[in-house]
Amino acid sequence: MQRFRWAQLFFASLGLLVAAFAAHASDENFKLMCTADGEFLQVSSDHSVPEARCKAIAERALKAYAFITKQSEWKDPGIVRANPLQFRLLGGNLKVLGYAKGPNLMVMRDSYMDESLSEGTLAHELAHIQDLRQLQGKRFPSFMLEGRALTMGNAYRMSIGQKPNTYDQQMAGSAVRFTAGQAEELLNEFRGQGWNNQAIGTVLVEYMRTKWNGGIPAIQPRLSRLIEGMAKGEEFEAAFQKEFAASAHSLGDAFAAHLNATKGNAAARLQGTIWQSVSAPTTAQPSAADTAEMLLYAAEWLDD
Ligand SMILES: [Zn+2]
Repeated sequence: MQRFRWAQLFFASLGLLVAAFAAHASDENFKLMCTADGEFLQVSSDHSVPEARCKAIAERALKAYAFITKQSEWKDPGIVRANPLQFRLLGGNLKVLGYAKGPNLMVMRDSYMDESLSEGTLAHELAHIQDLRQLQGKRFPSFMLEGRALTMGNAYRMSIGQKPNTYDQQMAGSAVRFTAGQAEELLNEFRGQGWNNQAIGTVLVEYMRTKWNGGIPAIQPRLSRLIEGMAKGEEFEAAFQKEFAASAHSLGDAFAAHLNATKGNAAARLQGTIWQSVSAPTTAQPSAADTAEMLLYAAEWLDD
C-alpha cells in the first residue's frame, strides 16, 4: 500500500514534468552560448550563462565523453564524433536532472551541474548518446543500455576521485533485495524504464563483469561488440551468442541461480562488485534520492 501511494505521487509528478518539458521543448527558446572542440560541442541555453561557466561545463562534458569513448573501445570511434553534439542547459528549478534525447541532444539542468553527482549523470547520458550513435536506429534492451551507462557513470565518478554516495547506497540496496523472480520479470521487458529497470540492468552487468563464466573484466568493450553487431543488422540473441559463445537465456539462468544462492546474504551478493564497500540501506521504501533518479530516468524515457 505504501508503495502504491508512492507510485501515485510519482506519476502525478511525471504529469507536471511532461507539461514542463512541453514548455521547454521548442528550439527557439535556446540560444547558442558557447562551443568547444571546434564546433563539435554546442552549448545552448534558455537563459543567460556567463561565458566562463559555459566553457567550464563544455570542458567537463568533453572530458566525460572522451572517458566513455575510451571505456567503450569502439571499432569505429569516428561514428561518435561524426555529428555535432547539442548540449542544452535548462534554467529554473525543474526536478529533472538531465536526459539524452536521441543520439544528438543532451539536456541538463544548469543548477544541477553544481552538484557532484552531475558528473555521473553527464557520463551516464553521454554513454547513451554514444550507444545510440553506434546503434544507428537499432533497438537494444533498455535494461542493458542502462546497466552499461550506470556502471560507466560510476567508473567515471571514481576516476575523478569521488567516493560512493547515497545514490550508490540506494543502488546497492536494490542489488541486495532483488529476487530471481523479479529479475526474470524485469529482464523479459526489453523496453522497460524506471528505477528497477535501471537497477536490474546494473546488477546484471556487474554480475557479468565479476562472476559470469568466471567473470568478464572487459565487459564494456564486449557489450560494444554486441551493439556493433546489432548496428549491422544482427538480432540481439544472435549477436549475444556470437560475442559470448553462450545464449542470452543461459545468462538469465545463471543470473537467477546467483540471486537464489546469495538470497539474504548481502556480502555474498555484493562481493567483487562496485558496491562491495558500500553499505546498503535496510529500508525498502524509496528515498528522496531514489525519487529524483526515477524522475530523471522517466524523463529520459519520455524523450526517447
Ligand atoms: Zn539512462
